[in-house]
Amino acid sequence: MKPFTPVLLLSCCGILFAAPQPAVKNRDPLAPTPYRFLPLTSVRPQGWLKQQLQVQADGLSGHVEQIWKDLGPDSGWLGGAGESWERGPYYLDGLVPLAFLLDDPVLIARAKKWVDWTLSHQRPDGAIGPVKNIDWWPNFVMLKVLTQYQEATGDARVIPLMERYFAYQASRLDQQPLKQWAIMRWQDEALSILWLYNRTGRQDLLNVVRKLHGQGFYWPDQFKDFAFTGKVTGKECTLQTHGVNNSQGLKTGAIWWQVTKDRADLDALYRQFRMLDRYHLQPGGVHSGDEHYAGVDPSQGTELCSVLETMYSLEHIVAATGDAAFADRLERIAYNSQPATFTKDMWGHQYDQQANQVLVSRAKRSWSSNGPDSNLFGLEPNFGCCLANMHQGWPKFAASLWMATQDDGLAAIAYAPSEVTATVRGGVPVTIVERTDYPFRQDIHVTVNPRQPAAFPIDLRIPGWASAASVKVNGTAVAGLKPGTFHKIERLWRQGDKIEIVLPMDARVSHWYHNSVAVERGPLVYSLQIGEQWTKATDRPQVPDWAVEPTTPWNYGLLLDEANPKTSIQVEERALGAYPFSSEGAPVLLKAKGRRVPEWKLVDNSAGPVPQSPVLSGEPVEGVVLIPYGAAKLRVTAFPVVKRE
Ligand SMILES: [Zn+2]
Repeated sequence: MKPFTPVLLLSCCGILFAAPQPAVKNRDPLAPTPYRFLPLTSVRPQGWLKQQLQVQADGLSGHVEQIWKDLGPDSGWLGGAGESWERGPYYLDGLVPLAFLLDDPVLIARAKKWVDWTLSHQRPDGAIGPVKNIDWWPNFVMLKVLTQYQEATGDARVIPLMERYFAYQASRLDQQPLKQWAIMRWQDEALSILWLYNRTGRQDLLNVVRKLHGQGFYWPDQFKDFAFTGKVTGKECTLQTHGVNNSQGLKTGAIWWQVTKDRADLDALYRQFRMLDRYHLQPGGVHSGDEHYAGVDPSQGTELCSVLETMYSLEHIVAATGDAAFADRLERIAYNSQPATFTKDMWGHQYDQQANQVLVSRAKRSWSSNGPDSNLFGLEPNFGCCLANMHQGWPKFAASLWMATQDDGLAAIAYAPSEVTATVRGGVPVTIVERTDYPFRQDIHVTVNPRQPAAFPIDLRIPGWASAASVKVNGTAVAGLKPGTFHKIERLWRQGDKIEIVLPMDARVSHWYHNSVAVERGPLVYSLQIGEQWTKATDRPQVPDWAVEPTTPWNYGLLLDEANPKTSIQVEERALGAYPFSSEGAPVLLKAKGRRVPEWKLVDNSAGPVPQSPVLSGEPVEGVVLIPYGAAKLRVTAFPVVKRE
């Protein structure tokens, strides 16, 4: 059957955009991947997620150009004499998907202004970007921007520019090899080269990937005999122990395997996760790094850039492996660590977040190398990379909720209210509408609308925690669901077919540093709700920096039955409002019992090491309220467990 060719043109602010393009498969000789990204704008956020992207657009993401000189008219990426390194591309890497997913004409015009400059200023030799930038690394990010822009707009200038650029780079790499950041982050450029190869079939592109691999750092090798099993400081801090580099490096094996087809490359990423998880994992789902490996103490920090780059790596890892556990992990980060590091209105962000974050202030802390501003919420605490890079998380996550399957169906990778339009087997256009308040609620309602009855698979992720999951198609229960896998439903779909997914969320506990526990429910991690006193730490017009002091005690241990935690925890649901990721707006409260642990005190302006559990406490039993980690800007997440009499 003839493949569906999108002919619909959508008009926005005077620009014509093609409707979503078909998902492109890996060409020979690349390994076929179980899942493939749908072109940007195939998935549109709805419900609370759309509202969250709007919060982002109404916050710093939609105003940063007017506020921050590094992204102002003097940027080298607009032809000015100002900042000419990574900040412009970082910003666009989030602005482009945000603008197009919201279909916001102001943001689209703004993104277009930047992209147009790069597209219209390629030099005769093929180089792109500001002349004064001689580092390959910022171009890696700009290439990711261009691929997204091409998918959203069909702009015919993008592919020829990329072809000329990679030919230029191939001719230069011997005299001007990868250096520093580019050595550690080559895999992020490899993605764009594979993207282009799949569209043009030019074999010389694969040679460029091989060249990058040859000059770059092969991350999985670091984990064969992992040397960094605790916090690193001083001279131990190198580009190899750098948190954000590690987050970007997670996807290396998944990308390189597509070139080599050697299963060992794919297997290596599992070892990489095992090592990082054992020695550096934090309850929010991301490894510590403040700015370098910082161990498992929940008072250590995790950088915002690491949060978002880990998400982006996971999106690619899920596509390459088809392993639902990585999608569980993606949700854990997207719904916990990500919102936690922003103010509720997304006008302020932290550089470093802590799982046990009981004081936000300008003060020295036991970071591996970060400065005293690092956990303030504000404009550019500690360093401006996160301000430039903070925009990509929500929009790329939204764009990855659904992917194409290898067998020409669709897969629900992560759950959130959304609508996806794509072509499936036989070239049939289909729209799927997903209505839900997940992750705050357990019910997901999916309506399938193919243009005509069509046989194709829909893969539904059954999260690892969802042991009581149920799925019905048009009222009939689906058998054989297995938590931690994708469940394929292959059938003839007709317009209006309904899938009802229920993912019951029983409270459960996970174990952390010093045998502490975190309470989890569904994809959300819960933290102690602490009274928050917000004061300005830097009184700057429009975007002050905020300190947050606790107005209620935080040093509680929990009293719970670890084997059956739901018996000691009551769940209270609240209405989903404008700011679900705020203490007062938390849509779910968990009520538990605890006792204070007087010896657990502030040390170096952070919660001291969690006392080894179980702990003894003679303090009175009190009720404690837990709210989602992402809503608690002050929080205790890893709790001691109080020994029961
Ligand atoms: Zn950063």
